[in-house]
Amino acid sequence: MKEKRGADEYRRLNVAIEHHPPRCADDPRFIRDAIDYQPNELSELRAVCRRCPLYALCASYGKAAKPPAGVWAGSVYKPRRQAHEAAD
Ligand code: SF4
Repeated sequence: MKEKRGADEYRRLNVAIEHHPPRCADDPRFIRDAIDYQPNELSELRAVCRRCPLYALCASYGKAAKPPAGVWAGSVYKPRRQAHEAAD
């Protein structure tokens, strides 16, 4: 059976989280539907992500899986037919 996109990246991210708590832990702003984020809010969240020790792993997962919800290393992945809004 074929694995979901980003499965390897997700495993690596989860291993790292055991040793390095993410900056977004317990922050509900990071777990909404992608279409709900406004540009000014994303700027604030990207500033949090830039200081996160998991940034590279989180970005790898986001790019591989393109989750339709949440912020991943400062990026959101909107559903198809909407532009991907990448981090600065
Ligand atoms: S880089 Fe990823 S894990 Fe870190 S704060 Fe941002 S969204 Fe959370």
